[in-house]
Amino acid sequence: MRSITQKIMASEGSTMHVKPTHKGTCHCGAVEFEVDLPDGLVDVHRCNCSICGRRGAIVGAVPLAGLRVTRGADVLTLYQFNTKTAKHYFCGTCGIYTHHQRRLKPHEYSFNVACLEGVRIDDLGEVPITDGINHPKDRTPPV
Ligand SMILES: [Zn+2]
Repeated sequence: MRSITQKIMASEGSTMHVKPTHKGTCHCGAVEFEVDLPDGLVDVHRCNCSICGRRGAIVGAVPLAGLRVTRGADVLTLYQFNTKTAKHYFCGTCGIYTHHQRRLKPHEYSFNVACLEGVRIDDLGEVPITDGINHPKDRTPPV
């Protein structure tokens, strides 16, 4: 089984350039955020859980201090469900998922890689899928 912690390198021919602090936006531009990516995109994955599977986003992860909403915090909508541990945020105007505080690692945010300026999902190559249906925290005993 492959580890989900891996650094994604840009695929061949890609012009993707990830900056140490990279700006992201929702679709309508109401929400802007920046993420600290000193090591590039880390822990990039998809997840098959009930919410991630539906939204289909490819996410990366950063420590909580590594993501700042720089515009439109008042437009962001918070969505929670089940144990209400994770905090899922999306733009209340255009509906685009921007980031969420993780259930598995509450000291981290995951963010929508496709929101990053200049980053195309087809630059990412093969992206691993995390088994969120069988979430580690739903196992007995919890992992
Ligand atoms: Zn928006």
